[in-house]
Amino acid sequence: MREKGGEDMEKPICRHRSIDDDWLPLLRRKSEMTLAPHPYCNKCGLVRNIGPDRPRKIGFYVDKLSELERYLKNEDSKGGKSKLTEAQKRLIVKDMAEQEVFNDLYGVLASTQKDKFIEIIRKYRPDIAKREIKYHLE
Ligand SMILES: [Zn+2]
Repeated sequence: MREKGGEDMEKPICRHRSIDDDWLPLLRRKSEMTLAPHPYCNKCGLVRNIGPDRPRKIGFYVDKLSELERYLKNEDSKGGKSKLTEAQKRLIVKDMAEQEVFNDLYGVLASTQKDKFIEIIRKYRPDIAKREIKYHLE
């Protein structure tokens, strides 16, 4: 049953606005006390990821899933792991689409997305090793 006006239903998504000359000094390592300026959202306070570990749009991961699908199809034909079914693929894509890390890229790290991608695939296909999925993410 759906409840209208429920607290966790339809929470407003922040559109994230950074003020360019109002950057947050980010402490990198406690020992070095290095300050790296980062823009941050002046509405929700989320720090924007401007580092090398940049996130990708969901399409990137759907492409990677297709690569994995081809790999599994080949494995299946050799008598190895079974291929990815249409239902599994649909569920994985649906789960990804519902994850904030694939939709709100502002403060997300690519490594967080990769971990989530692996987690979702292994939810439906625990027989696929993490390293096999990682290999297809490179
Ligand atoms: Zn924001």
